[in-house]
Formats: sequence, structure tokens, C-alpha cells
Amino acid sequence: MESVLTLFALPQAELLQFEVRALRTPHVFRRCARCDQRRPFVSSERFRVNAHQRLLDVWLIYHCNSCGLSWNAEILERTPAHQVDSLQAYLENCSAQAWREAFEVNTLRSRGLQVEAAVPYEVRWRSEDLAQSALDPGLTIEIRLVDPVEVRLDRLLADELGFSRSQVSKLSKEGVLRAESRAKNPLRRAAFDRQKVFLHQELCQKMLKAAPSDSLLGLSLRRLVGS
Ligand SMILES: [Zn+2]
Repeated sequence: MESVLTLFALPQAELLQFEVRALRTPHVFRRCARCDQRRPFVSSERFRVNAHQRLLDVWLIYHCNSCGLSWNAEILERTPAHQVDSLQAYLENCSAQAWREAFEVNTLRSRGLQVEAAVPYEVRWRSEDLAQSALDPGLTIEIRLVDPVEVRLDRLLADELGFSRSQVSKLSKEGVLRAESRAKNPLRRAAFDRQKVFLHQELCQKMLKAAPSDSLLGLSLRRLVGS
């Protein structure tokens, strides 16, 4: 049985979530027939559905960002109606469905379209209660990509924690910041959903001085460092 003193001496663990949400869907870059120039096309969040007997064509409608000319991006071609799971969503112009289709960046690219790589996003911080034994000691940051936003991990951490990217790299080399990944150089790669980043207590101690005391980060660090 562990004594009370040992329990107090146990390293503490805290979890913060970075919830990353896109502010808009990716643009498709193509030549606009009316502008006679290459333009960004913006999803209208509306679909067009055509039926040929029992076969359906579905498009997501985009508009030229400059002149408003519409252009339809193919989603489904001559597909038997009974195989179309999201038919109701297409018919009702469900915006969540339109959002998902516009983020099918790899599918759109496989059709020869040029799709924007990185869209503007916002990050919300959330504090999560987890069993402390489930985490490494120190502060764990879990990244939640609500939308499939492409963002380099070092940029995300630098922006949110108030470091420069070279500082983030230095902290990683010192071993006080560690990103979960199967790949080499995870900091230089795109963050993935549910990715965890571990900040050692030593680093938390240093960060506490700079973190605003009423911020979620400040509160988490204070609980962690115990001051
Ligand atoms: Zn145009």
C-alpha cells in the first residue's frame, strides 16, 4: 500500500485538447470561362442531382470567387440509385454533406483538379479529465481535427503555445517536448487526428511564468506544477 506521501510525490498529468476546425472548405483552382483567368472556385454547399432512369449523377456546385460563374464538380457518375447512401443529403443540400465532399481533397485531386492544400482554421482549447495513470507525467496535448485540416504540427504548436518554430524544434531535441508518431520528424509533418504531444514537467514549469493565469493553459500548468 502506498503512503500518502508517495501519492503526493507522484508526477501529475494533465490533458488539453486542441480542437481544430476549418473556417471554410478548400477552394478548387481552375480557369474561369467568364474571367478568362485561373480563379479560386468556392463550394456553394449545394448539389445538383440528375437521374437517367435508375442511374444518378451528382455534382457539388462551385462558384468563381470573382464573377460568380457556376461550375459543377462531379461527385458520382451514373451510379445506381440504390448504391447512393447519401441521396437524401444530396437532395436536401445538406451542408454537412457538402462540407465532407469538399474536403475529399484526394478524390478531387485524383480527377485532375487543383485543390487548395491548407485552409484557414481556428483552434479551441478544451480541458479534459482523464485518468492520470493513462497519461505520461506532464502536460499532454491531444489534437482533434474536427475537419481534415492540413496543418504542420510545429506551426500549430508554435502558434498555440507562443513559441517560434525553431524553439519547438529545440525543445524536441532537448527531449522535453515529444510528439507521438510512427513517422520520422513528426513536427515537420501534418498533424493527425488524435495525435498526442507530451510536454515534460520541466518545460511546464518554465511555461507557467509566461502563461496567462486565467487561460486554460495557465490553469492546467498551475494544477500540474502545483503552485
Ligand atoms: Zn470568373
